[in-house]
Amino acid sequence: MAHRVTLIPGDGIGPELTEATRRVLDASGVDFDWEVVEAGEAVMAEYGTPLPEHVLESVKRNRIALKGPITTPVGGGFRSVNVTLRQVLGLYANLRPARSMPGLDTRYQDVDLVIVRENTEDLYAGIEHMVGRDAAESIKIITREASERIARFAFDYAVANGRHKVTAVHKANIMKLSDGLFLESCRTVAADYDGRVEFEDRIVDNMCMQLVQKPELYDVLVLPNLYGDIVSDLAAGLVGGLGVAPGANIGTEAAVFEPVHGSAPKYAGLDKANPTALILSGALMLRHLGYPVEAERVERAVRAVIAEGSATTYDLGGPAGTSEFAGAIISRLAAESQIPAASSTSA
Ligand code: NAD
Repeated sequence: MAHRVTLIPGDGIGPELTEATRRVLDASGVDFDWEVVEAGEAVMAEYGTPLPEHVLESVKRNRIALKGPITTPVGGGFRSVNVTLRQVLGLYANLRPARSMPGLDTRYQDVDLVIVRENTEDLYAGIEHMVGRDAAESIKIITREASERIARFAFDYAVANGRHKVTAVHKANIMKLSDGLFLESCRTVAADYDGRVEFEDRIVDNMCMQLVQKPELYDVLVLPNLYGDIVSDLAAGLVGGLGVAPGANIGTEAAVFEPVHGSAPKYAGLDKANPTALILSGALMLRHLGYPVEAERVERAVRAVIAEGSATTYDLGGPAGTSEFAGAIISRLAAESQIPAASSTSA
């Protein structure tokens, strides 16, 4: 049976990248029935909102979406569609793997990190006010419930994916109550995985230094929202930058797969942008749906095309456009197609 998936093309480079990704996923051996719905700048005039109700309904119904980046106006204008989607759908876990790939010009060759970022609270709760005219206050919310939930997600991910260690990242030496509660929650959850997954913690500033000095020592990191945002970009930088950084937002009711990068408006419609991050987000989606063999096959094909180097986009030093890059990945998948496809293990 085909998997019905909501496809949100998005703004800027989003439509060409989602099209490239759809072609690759359709060649992966898994059957998809794509329900394409538009969100973002283009629908503002028609619906008066960048996130019409029928888009949310589609994701809720299908419980799974592949999404291109959506432009957020700076300062005024509408609220971020990306943040709204995460909040409305309760997508509490942001998963961002960062893995070295041969053929990319990076400082390290052996990075294999998974960043698990809490997606719903911390300073992103958006509770801010002025204190008089010349001071502003932002309130940082950390709860035991959300902290234990994200820690459990990180440990379950480690167990399911053969990972050996979870590192909790915090600043509990200074924010003894809020970050202290996050760390205490991680320790509580870690006890349930004793003997199966190793646990340690790091103060966030030290963590950043360690990651640029010896990233190979780390495995799965679990962080509150703000540190997670910053450290996941740092991790993306270690393995080749935004063009190759996939992501997933996962909750109990739905999951939305999207790249870390934005809509890069200056490259829109030029068939120039790198589709790797969205295609690798698609591989995360395959795993989530219970197709680890097909996910691995897509990842291997991406890695092979990048290592070979002649069909990659400008940012990776290659001469190809978005669709040619995707075509090379599909050819690679076809060449491998003698290997029998595994069937779904969970979906
Ligand atoms: P951006 O990620 O869109 O682009 C920054 C630069 O990175 C680009 O100019 C380009 O040089 C490079 N780049 C990004 N993706 C690339 C790709 N796939 N291939 C090749 N090069 C790539 O960041 P920005 O300019 O800060 O944001 C642009 C818009 O995107 C903003 O409106 C922002 O709010 C939005 N945004 C959306 C999301 C999302 O939808 N989840 C995430 C981040 C930013």
